[in-house]
Amino acid sequence: MSDPPARHGDDPHISLRLARTNAEAHLYMDLHPCDACGASDFHPRSSVVMIVHDLGSRYHGTCPSCGTEREFVFRIPEQTHAPSGDAVQYGDARPSELLDPGEWLWVADSASGQGPADPSGLSPEETTRQRYFLAVAVAAIAEVLKFVPEGADAVPDSAFVSERGHSVYAAEPGRFSKPRLEAVLGAYRDISMRFGATRVDETIPGTTSTASNVDQEESTE
Ligand SMILES: [Zn+2]
Repeated sequence: MSDPPARHGDDPHISLRLARTNAEAHLYMDLHPCDACGASDFHPRSSVVMIVHDLGSRYHGTCPSCGTEREFVFRIPEQTHAPSGDAVQYGDARPSELLDPGEWLWVADSASGQGPADPSGLSPEETTRQRYFLAVAVAAIAEVLKFVPEGADAVPDSAFVSERGHSVYAAEPGRFSKPRLEAVLGAYRDISMRFGATRVDETIPGTTSTASNVDQEESTE
């Protein structure tokens, strides 16, 4: 249990998992708190690094709670897509390599449970905040759907690989049927439009270079 954390320089044969977007990398780090103290608060510096033939992004910093040095390294795509407007996008059409479908549903549940489903009585700031959480929920359900194979009607059992993902799946496997996921996605989209969101399925993602995308997330907070 006292093994030091793996470093990207130790073994060039370690295959790094793909972080399709900076947002996905941050979400993964949020779901993996500090090994030493369990705190999830972490404000790493990010840099683009070369790992053998892959382009990687390295997130490094100290845990604000206990001072432990923390590092995450992901493989990143040559080209990344930045969402337009206030749409949230964690990746392209490929299923995530960082979060399994149960974790994505957990993210959607957490985001959609942050506030009311009706904007009446909310301040503009609260409305904007809730619109963001609903955009996260929409994007996360869309990520679950990417695990449904072509022609299948549900996420297969084999897609669940994390402890959290397994427990969400075990609690109610029926939530991972394609029709049910599509219904939930439609419902979240309808609710988000009450909060002034534009339909995310009609936005056209712009393309930016990887290098400029890496630091984008930090400046939007
Ligand atoms: Zn810590």
